[in-house]
Amino acid sequence: MTRMPTFAACLLALCLPLAAAAPRTLRVVGDNNYPPYLFIGPDGKPQGYAVDAWKLWEKKTGIKVELTATSWADAQHRLQSRQADVIDMIFRTPERAARLDFTRPFATVETAIYADRELTGIADASGLRGFVVGVQRGDACVERLHRAGVSSTRAYTSYADIIGAARSGDIRIFCMDRSPAEYYLYRLHAQDEFVKAFDFYGDRFRRGVRKGDAATLALVEQGMAKITPQERQQLQDKWMGQRVDLTGYASIFKTAASVLALVGIVLLAWIYSLRRAVRKRTRDLRFLAHYDPLTRLPNRHLLLDRINHALAQPGIALSVLLVNLDNFKRINDRFGHPLADQLLQQVAERLKALADPIDTVARLGGDDFVLTLRSSDVSQVTALAEQARQAIAAVLVLEGEEVFLSASVGASLYPHDGENGVVLLKNADTAMSRAKQSGRNIISFYRASLSAQASHFVTMGASIRRAMQRGEFELFYQPQHCLRSSRMQGVEALLRWRRDGELVLPAEFIPCAEELGLIEELGEWVMKTACRQLADWRARGAPALRMAVNLSARQLTSPGLVSAVESALAQARLPGDLLELEITESALVGSEAEISATLEAIRALGVRIAIDDFGTGYSSLAYLRHLPVTVIKIDKSFLDGAPEDPAAAEVIGAIVAMGHALNLTVVAEGVESAPQAAFLEEIGCDLAQGWFYSRAVAPEQIAKAL
Ligand code: C2E
Ligand code: MG
Ligand code: MG
Repeated sequence: MTRMPTFAACLLALCLPLAAAAPRTLRVVGDNNYPPYLFIGPDGKPQGYAVDAWKLWEKKTGIKVELTATSWADAQHRLQSRQADVIDMIFRTPERAARLDFTRPFATVETAIYADRELTGIADASGLRGFVVGVQRGDACVERLHRAGVSSTRAYTSYADIIGAARSGDIRIFCMDRSPAEYYLYRLHAQDEFVKAFDFYGDRFRRGVRKGDAATLALVEQGMAKITPQERQQLQDKWMGQRVDLTGYASIFKTAASVLALVGIVLLAWIYSLRRAVRKRTRDLRFLAHYDPLTRLPNRHLLLDRINHALAQPGIALSVLLVNLDNFKRINDRFGHPLADQLLQQVAERLKALADPIDTVARLGGDDFVLTLRSSDVSQVTALAEQARQAIAAVLVLEGEEVFLSASVGASLYPHDGENGVVLLKNADTAMSRAKQSGRNIISFYRASLSAQASHFVTMGASIRRAMQRGEFELFYQPQHCLRSSRMQGVEALLRWRRDGELVLPAEFIPCAEELGLIEELGEWVMKTACRQLADWRARGAPALRMAVNLSARQLTSPGLVSAVESALAQARLPGDLLELEITESALVGSEAEISATLEAIRALGVRIAIDDFGTGYSSLAYLRHLPVTVIKIDKSFLDGAPEDPAAAEVIGAIVAMGHALNLTVVAEGVESAPQAAFLEEIGCDLAQGWFYSRAVAPEQIAKAL
């Protein structure tokens, strides 16, 4: 601390005559129950902001301070009765201003109205009317309450007394400065019993001297002015509680917050990626549970599921084909696993391309593949097995090297070879092993007898292919005669296979050609050859002759049919109406919209459409109205027994009548006798064809007959 230099003190004495009267001791009084400014501590001594402030003042001025902490009323009395020079912590009120002079304010204090917790609805001074308000004796609050129109007050010596009175129910409302109120309510454990009803007013603490005591006032002010801002801050911090310096903490807090946020984000990202990974893994697991990861084909589990699901449908036909690659171990050893895996993937793709969408291609593991087929027809199963074997046999390229594979197939048919998926698979496997034993690269059925049939079928397929390449097929022609004029009006082209000098009839090879997918090519050849033949006969003087060509069901659904017909006509320069395409009723069963569109397109070329073997295949005749049919050929079976059997005659007569009613040309097939021909003529049938007129003959004979 700085001691005032002597000359400065003299100067002060000269300048301020009042200072000359400076007392040795300054007597200060204050309220003894006004924490944190002045109150009696646990040791019974006064303490608080005022005690320390006056100690500082003492040091700054060198004048001793005698601070008396007493009741507020007593403090004011002491000042007035000249027992004290200064009163501390006092509000300036109009009433007090008449008796006292005041220093500048040094603190702002708020005064509030407190009320019993049970009392509600007291929001301002007007709400206090009718209540007795407890006050500290001599408090400025009394004056304020009076001014606010509250006249009923009860004065107590100390704040603690007020709270005691409120607790005992003497009063229910009291007025108190906020800081002592908070202090005492807390210390007396009364904070839950009372609530602050409202902030009454705010005022500023000053120090007061008796009116006219300017010297003391100046002395007090000058001394206080010497207290530095830092010292004042320290006082403040000590008694009012330090303002928390957040600058240090703030940065720590900010850093912590950012770190936390970052950790949060990382955590969220982690959780998100974890969840994604879990979802993906779940998907993978679900996939792995049902699919083979290498080829993405269904695995054994899903295969059995599908088979058993299919078998649950009534009347289902099903076969299971187990396809195993021959000598796959050698491939594995030679190329290593990664390349062998690629090869398995290629095989899987090829097999997938073969299967109908409703059937399943699965991989059981290793080089075991399974195909299911909704049929238990030996020829169809064999055909699929053949297609599979050929697909696998087509050259594969591995690392620039051509690889030739072959496969053995075992087949089991439901229900004969097994009532459920597991048994069907097991028996297909047994059959496959048998195929391996008999020299690989073949198909074997679980039932040995079927294998013989299949092997005949397979051999037949290979022979047909060879025959097509070698040109072993020929067309024979059977004349169709007009029943009224007996003249040959047309011919039907019938396919023959000249095998080893022998003529093989279509019934022997057409089903096989159909199943093995050879019929399109063969059929196209028939159509072209027949058209060319007709053009040749026309050129030789038979302009009105018509050509009938048989179409198989498979050709009818082949996408290239219409253009094949068109080009056959174009190549032979034939008008469309000289060509007649024969289809059986059974070929019409199925996707009728598609077939109808094809027939319409063919009909649009002028080509006639005949229903072959009429009356044998279809249960409904409605198609006759919907489809662009022009001819019906009554099946030979209707003619058996006619004309002697009246029933047979009746039926034929009815068919002819119906055909005519629908504006169709009616042809009778398989006419073998003169009475038959006579009967047909009699009932008005248009054309007849059969051995009675001529068998199917080589083209030269037709030319001769013409
Ligand atoms: P389809 O079209 O009903 O042919 C009539 C069949 O009856 C022919 O047998 C014919 O030789 C035979 N036939 C004709 N007149 C008589 C007769 O008076 N009595 C008896 N018992 N039979 C007679 P084919 O030539 O063996 O043909 C059988 C079937 O093969 C044909 O029946 C036809 O559906 C089919 N077919 C023949 N050629 C072809 C062809 O080029 N393509 C297709 N997809 N099928 C053909
Ligand atoms: Mg025919
Ligand atoms: Mg026929």
